[in-house]
Amino acid sequence: MKFNPKKSLGQNFLVDNKVLSKIVEIGEIEHQDFVIEVGPGNGALTEKIFEKKPKKLIVIEKDNRLSVVLKKKFSNNISIVNQDMMDFTYEDYQTNKLIIFGNLPYNISTQILAKWIKTENIDKFCKRLILMFQKEVADRIIAETNTKHFGRLTILSNWKMEVKKIIDIEPESFKPSPKVKSTLLIFVPKKNFYEFNDPKNLEHITNVFFTQRRKMIKKPLKLLFKNYEDVSKKLNLDLKLRPQNLDNVTYYEICKLYESLVK
Ligand code: SAM
Repeated sequence: MKFNPKKSLGQNFLVDNKVLSKIVEIGEIEHQDFVIEVGPGNGALTEKIFEKKPKKLIVIEKDNRLSVVLKKKFSNNISIVNQDMMDFTYEDYQTNKLIIFGNLPYNISTQILAKWIKTENIDKFCKRLILMFQKEVADRIIAETNTKHFGRLTILSNWKMEVKKIIDIEPESFKPSPKVKSTLLIFVPKKNFYEFNDPKNLEHITNVFFTQRRKMIKKPLKLLFKNYEDVSKKLNLDLKLRPQNLDNVTYYEICKLYESLVK
């Protein structure tokens, strides 16, 4: 039967054996590890993960047609969850031995990443996440301060994760080929990170700053704080700088102050 990939589900399947092996190698799976793969598709990466014999392998696939393919391929050797990855909860997998893999559907890649980052205790139960993004999104995640890619996604991602780029991957490694390059990243949850009352405050702050990324930071500071001059003195901020000139830590400090002063 011919399988018609659904664009709406970002169905670009990896067909490059070298890339598949590289992804699994980066995961460093040990036999006591639990592995979750989101969006397994037809199971090309799943097979490679399975060969490493983790203690348990759970895959979460939204497309019912692919769940059927996976059931045929793996029978009861893995757990196949036919569900939206955005609705999946990790309560049952709160071991400190979890590794998450995902060649992510590009239309929800930033949402699922934000969900993982905001998941409480992710640093306690998850060892690492090996994730594939559209290159342009990966560039924003790993951007340095003072560059055009630096922004909301950089600040949120680096709040709780150490992020490292592994490789760029050409469109030809996928079938059907996407129009753009992809990038593989590894995320290791940080043990020490800024604690916020509500991570939504960090998102709110970065939203206010980066909605007008060309404006000087005096404007967003004024919108966020009545006493913006005190805040700028306290954090030693030059009000003429632009949002991309501040570093990640400065945004976490601004969020801490916001939570103590505004709430
Ligand atoms: N892992 C496979 C590979 O590398 O060849 C497939 C990756 S493909 C880029 C993304 C996969 O995620 C597809 O199988 C698609 O059906 C699935 N998917 C898309 N949206 C999803 C969602 N919200 N929840 C779970 N799976 C989803």
